[in-house]
Amino acid sequence: FIRTPMRPSYWCMSAMFVVLFFIYLSAVKLVRGQQDIELTYHDHQAMTTLLTQWAQSNPDLAHLYSIGKSVQGRDLWVLLLTKNPHEEPLLKPNVKYVANMHGNEAVGRELMLQLIPYLLNNYRTDPYVRSLLDNTRIHIMPSMNPDGFENSVEGQCTGGRDLWVLLLTKNPHEEPLLKPNVKYVANMHGNEAVGRELMLQLIPYLLNNYRTDPYVRSLLDNTRIHIMPSMNPDGFENSVEGQCTGGQGRYNIRGFDLNRNFPDHFKANNKQQQPETEVVREWMDSVPFVLSANLHGGALVASYPYDNTPNSILSQFTLHSSESRTPDNDVFKHLASVYSLNHLTMHLGHPCPDGSNTGFVNGTTNGAQWYPLTGGMQDYNYIRASCLEITLELSCCKYPPRQDLGRYWRENKRSLLLYLGEVHRGVKGMITDVNGNAITTSTLKIKERDIAFKSSKRGEFWRILLPGVYTLVITADGYNSLEQQFTVEEGRITILNVQLTPIGLVVSNHSVSVNATHSTKLTNNRQTNAPNITTKSIGLTGDKHIYVTIPSVTDGQEKFANLLESKQWMYNNAVDNCVNALLICHQSIRGGGTLRPPSLLSSLNNNNNALLISSPAISSSSQPSKLQFSSSASPPAIGFSSLLRPNHTITLASDPLAPHQYSWPTWPSRRGQANAQAVTSDLTNTAPISNLFSSLSNRINSWTTNW
Ligand SMILES: [Zn+2]
Repeated sequence: FIRTPMRPSYWCMSAMFVVLFFIYLSAVKLVRGQQDIELTYHDHQAMTTLLTQWAQSNPDLAHLYSIGKSVQGRDLWVLLLTKNPHEEPLLKPNVKYVANMHGNEAVGRELMLQLIPYLLNNYRTDPYVRSLLDNTRIHIMPSMNPDGFENSVEGQCTGGRDLWVLLLTKNPHEEPLLKPNVKYVANMHGNEAVGRELMLQLIPYLLNNYRTDPYVRSLLDNTRIHIMPSMNPDGFENSVEGQCTGGQGRYNIRGFDLNRNFPDHFKANNKQQQPETEVVREWMDSVPFVLSANLHGGALVASYPYDNTPNSILSQFTLHSSESRTPDNDVFKHLASVYSLNHLTMHLGHPCPDGSNTGFVNGTTNGAQWYPLTGGMQDYNYIRASCLEITLELSCCKYPPRQDLGRYWRENKRSLLLYLGEVHRGVKGMITDVNGNAITTSTLKIKERDIAFKSSKRGEFWRILLPGVYTLVITADGYNSLEQQFTVEEGRITILNVQLTPIGLVVSNHSVSVNATHSTKLTNNRQTNAPNITTKSIGLTGDKHIYVTIPSVTDGQEKFANLLESKQWMYNNAVDNCVNALLICHQSIRGGGTLRPPSLLSSLNNNNNALLISSPAISSSSQPSKLQFSSSASPPAIGFSSLLRPNHTITLASDPLAPHQYSWPTWPSRRGQANAQAVTSDLTNTAPISNLFSSLSNRINSWTTNW
């Protein structure tokens, strides 16, 4: 077993030769561009290296040139592929591919980096490719926006940055009733950077001065202050410090102007809704904001709604846009003035040095009068979110150099603080039923101001008003509407708690207490129109009264038909996520087959569960249901209204009052139509709310048999 000593060495050397040969082959292929390019994303450096290698290795087929630099100094490379690229025979046409114009749309960029070596590798073997390169000058720009690509994130359809909100208030995790919510939203246009930094100054200022400054303390004790320093963080990342004008970074990463992206009151807005817009709208749905400001740059003015106008088409043909006033024009002018007059320079109304505008009287303007726009956020706040928002243009230079930020903070500090305090002006209060349960779906209006606003999901309402005498008009489905006069004084907020009575309730039998210092005027049109309606209480369920409306046959059916057909009633409740509604149609056995329906409407618990019993005639399209309601010889029927679906009825055949045989639907919440569907499928489940229903059933039973 003797091995010659040379043998392993030969082995080794041959192996090395083989390996080296393959390395050599690979290297040749690589520099010739014949290597397959890894299917991955190539950053600007890697892309530059590849393009350079391809051009150097194939001077007869490729020529690399740069048409200039991006904002951040990256070359905009173009690789020209053609036979003899430095010759330009007459009539040889030029074509181009331009990719990655939107920096985060990265597929085209990588396809170009596959296409180039494919053409080079197949020139000698593929007649089509050869003919193409011989007869065509093919210019390929893999990335028109290399900066944007570098700022993009692989795997994300948008920039994927969080939209942060900091809530500043005493005990942020508690939400006392009637503590109002205000917000500042900055940097919606990514390159308008001053507001963003001001927010990052304001937050520590409020925190640091809470214990020493009585105003700051009072503000944080009594106000929930939500601060979103950047609504467009992607745009900001694409912006460049020192650029005072222009649109670089203004838009979100998909190129949309977020302040043109909201549903509009005056004109259809067909812009595709962007993620930033969607989440801000959801945020507004979830928090009952009262006051807001939207911080921008590029001018120096406080602009107030409306931003759009019904006749903006006409106004394009006039030199000056006309004012587009809201019903709360006085309040908006006041709010804008509070900001402007407390700002060190805005109130002077000087035009910006670049001459982009002529200046504004007192530093304020109506938005549409300045220039009309569709899809703005402040109009949306006012009309759809019951929130008074103005737009603050805080700097002539959109993204000034950082050494200027101290000046902007000094100019704006007082305004930013005092504006927030304006939320404690006007009127606020609770809207409840006669049992003190919050009514969550009321619509409010200040008389002679033709704009409706909403209560919160807890029955709170707020409205900023200047001193004066006003009338609040409250409507809520299922309740009598109410008008209430009140006075607003300077320096304090009027508290107005309002109780609504169920439709048909005999008002005189109940003390409807509205703010004790003010008189109450009930408008009860429906009752006036339906004089046969009487009401009685059948007692308590738990600790809650049950009010019963006994309409005449005609009036009652009509009334409840109206109520039921008003899908608003159902959807509002559902949307508000506060109401479990049970709808039962009850056919009275009395009157020898004649419908004489007792009807019942009540709030059953703190979540404002509503129980409505009405005539099945209303739900005539429904399948007859067989729920027995009493032990009477001719049992009444109970079923769900057609509103819920004709073929989903609850049945209770044998023991009429056995609670387990009821299916008790809960309103699953959130969005109207979908919920109606969800409810119907829920009907097969039995929920453990039977005690309540049992008690109620007994009441109804005894009442119906006695009536
Ligand atoms: Zn802006």
